[in-house]
Formats: sequence, C-alpha cells, structure tokens
Amino acid sequence: MKNELPDFAIHSTCVVTPEGIKNATVLIKDGIITDVVEGKIKVTDFPLEEVGDLVLMPGLIDSHVHINEPGRTEWEGFETMTKAALAGGITTLVDMPLNSSPVTISAKTFQDKLKATEGKLYCNCGFWGGIVPSNADKLEELIDAGVLGIKAFLTHSGIDEFPNVTLADLKKGMAVMTKHHIPLLAHAELDEMHEGITAFEKNPTSYMAYLNSRPKVWEDKAVEMMIALCEEFKSPVHIVHLSSADALPQIKAARAKGLPLTVETCPQYLYFCAEEIPDGNTLFKCAPPIRERANNDKLWQALKDGTIDFVVTDHSPATPDLKKIESGNLKEAWGGIASIQFSLPVVWTAAKKSGVTISEIAALMSTHVAKFIGLEHSKGKIQKGYDADLVVWNPEQNFTVKASDIQYRHKISPYVGEELSGVVKQTYLGGKRVYENGNFIPLPQGKIIRRK
Ligand SMILES: [Zn+2]
Repeated sequence: MKNELPDFAIHSTCVVTPEGIKNATVLIKDGIITDVVEGKIKVTDFPLEEVGDLVLMPGLIDSHVHINEPGRTEWEGFETMTKAALAGGITTLVDMPLNSSPVTISAKTFQDKLKATEGKLYCNCGFWGGIVPSNADKLEELIDAGVLGIKAFLTHSGIDEFPNVTLADLKKGMAVMTKHHIPLLAHAELDEMHEGITAFEKNPTSYMAYLNSRPKVWEDKAVEMMIALCEEFKSPVHIVHLSSADALPQIKAARAKGLPLTVETCPQYLYFCAEEIPDGNTLFKCAPPIRERANNDKLWQALKDGTIDFVVTDHSPATPDLKKIESGNLKEAWGGIASIQFSLPVVWTAAKKSGVTISEIAALMSTHVAKFIGLEHSKGKIQKGYDADLVVWNPEQNFTVKASDIQYRHKISPYVGEELSGVVKQTYLGGKRVYENGNFIPLPQGKIIRRK
C-alpha cells in the first residue's frame, strides 16, 4: 500500500497564506504542499519542524536577473548566483537573454545557455529569449524551445551583441509572440539628445548630472509606445524596471481599459533616493537611474494600489574593474546594481516605512511574479497542491550588510554598510531544506523551468 503520510511538516505561528497570516502547520510530501492545517498539529509518524514565530512564506521569485554565463562568467555565473538567491530566500530566477555570450536570441544559443547550467543550479531557473533587429526568423524556434517570454531594448543595451530594436522590429516580433501568447518585456527608455547629456559628459562623477542625462520623459515616451503596441496586438506587454513615476497615469489608464500590460519596479528605486547618493560612487549606477524621493514615494503608492505588479531585482553585476569603482566615473562605469541576496530585507526595510505588510511583500515578491511567468498554479502560494518552495525569515531581526556575507561573484553592492531588517534563516526548494543560516546543502537541486 502506498504510504500516504507526509514526508514532514513545518509549523509557524506566522504562515503567509492567500487568506492571510495564520498560525498553521504546512504538510509536505514529494516536494508538494499537501495541506495547510490551522494551529500546531500533533504528529508521531513523521517529523515536524518548528520555526516558532518566524515567518513562513512562499519562496521569492525573481524574474529579472542577469547571470552572464556562458561567456561573461567572470561577471557572474549560475553557481554563485543561484546560491546567493537561496541565501536571499529566492527559489526561482528567470535569466535575461543578455549579458551572456552568446546572447539568448536563437534556439541554438538557448541550448548553449542550458548546457552552461549543468550541475550549477542551486535554485530553479527559467529563461527569457531576446528580440534584436536580426532575429525575426528565430523567434518561433526560440519560443518553441521553452523561453518564458521575449525581451527587447528600446535604447542601447550596453552589450553590442544585443542591439536595440525599432518599433517596426517589434511589430514583426509581436505577430509571433501574440500567436504563442507570451509576453514582450521592454527596457523602456527612448533616448534622444538633450543638453543634460553634454552636461554629464563634462561632469561624469556627478550623480545629479547622471540622473539628468536620463530624464523621466525617456521612460514616459517608451511606455507610451509599449502601451500602443499592447493595444494594437492585444498581447501581453511588460515594462521592466519602471523608475519614472510620471509614467504611472498612462499605465493606470491602459489597465483600466483592460489591456494585458504588466509592470515591475526594483528594490533600488524603492530604497535609495537620488538626493542621498554620493558623487563618484558608481555602485549606484543603473539604467533607468534611481530618482528623487518624491518620485520613489509614488512608486510605493503604485505598488500598494496595484498599478505596479511586482518587485524584482534586475541584479546586473559586473567586475569591479568594469564598475570603475576607483575613478568614480559614472559615464564609463557599467550600469547595473548587484543585490540579489538582499532584495527581501531591502524591500521589507523600506516597506515598513510605507505601511506595507508581510502579506503584501509575499504578493509583490512571489505570488504576482509566479503569475507573470505562467506558474500561478504551482508556485507563489502556501496552499494545497503548490510546490514546497519556501522561505523562513525573521522580520524583526536587523543586520548590517557586510561584503564578506555576499554569496554572488563580486562582493560589491551599494547596500554594503546598510542596516536592514529581515534575516533569511532557511530556504526550502521542492520540499528540501537547501539553505540554513549561511550553509547550503552540497548538491544543487534547482530545476530548469520551461514554458509549457
Ligand atoms: Zn536588466
């Protein structure tokens, strides 16, 4: 007779479920949550793990990371990245089609990417494909190979092998994406020459000069173009890393019309503000830039009212050399922030000040992202039948970010030295405890996620 007993159970007084926070016991068998029972159950036939008042939440999902392997593994690789994710309570990542080399723009280069993951995935990982001016005839095979969606740049990507597309390229691509009902993800900045650019060239260590060189209107115009595309094709369009709060009214209006438009923002836009960023510190450089506090307060408001769907990191590391840390030259420095391991405490620390609850954090960093990547029936909730990808964390405990705690490749981040709230204690992947207090189980347990 088949053994029907759970493999084990976890009890917490603070289990984040779709119905709210509960004192409950979560039963797990074969990597799946088989039940969520109110209170602490008495068990004799299987182990019960007690985590007391620590929060038990669905594992975070981060659909915007740059892992850079193969080809730029000296920037970041699958092993370091997926371990850092687990240490941050993240159980599923989705990798961008750049900055690896080759970039993921055909079925062949997607296979190269998959090959590079072998034996190195400590958490689950899915992949975005890319659209560039030259690969219209490769999109169909790329989608058939299992990428979760297609990413485009409307401005220079920073990587010459991944050139930006025009509206005409996108229209051609959208015909294929619409057929397969997969999202187009857009880096939404439409650049045009203005005097802020020349001012920045003259003063390349000034953060304010950098900020003024990439104005909100670049984002606002790009978002407008993406909404028009979404409306024309009635097909899902997603705005990555929204920074300009001025784009929010048109996003609201598009969604009120029922368009399949989704939007993400990132921890750096919610935690930092331009007024406090020192000159000559390239660790804060990302594109679009971190804007002023009044702007960022509106992003929080948009997360609370649902105009922005979720928060993901855009973890985009580079070597300290490429980051031009010594010269502090913001013009020459690689634009990208490394933060994957700290997204939960960063967002939680800022969220508390904005009156956002732990349940809302779970929605913004797990449930809504699961839906976006098409896994709303298996991930992102503590509910019967869902995958037992879980994080146990202490929202009350503070810590100071130290470079020596960083698990990803280069021990640099603008968060080093920040005092944050929220310490990740344990991470479970498919019902296995894969991370606990700084230690990983030795064998990687992550799975490749492909579009079904
Ligand atoms: Zn990115």
